[in-house]
Amino acid sequence: MPAVAQQDEITPFQEHHPTTVEQGRFCLARCTCGWRGPARRARSRARADAAEHLEHAEGRSEGRVDAEPS
Ligand SMILES: [Zn+2]
Repeated sequence: MPAVAQQDEITPFQEHHPTTVEQGRFCLARCTCGWRGPARRARSRARADAAEHLEHAEGRSEGRVDAEPS
């Protein structure tokens, strides 16, 4: 019996990998989940947006909020 390497690839439904992208003179945060932050003039601001989004996203998946304010 050949040793079959079992692939333990855990792919979550929604991954959050925020990055910052430059758009012209502005910089904005973007995430693999489709989220986009507002355009900022400073990259540090866009990074802060990304960090905030990540915090929210992770906190939400843990806390499971049913009622979402629209
Ligand atoms: Zn995200």
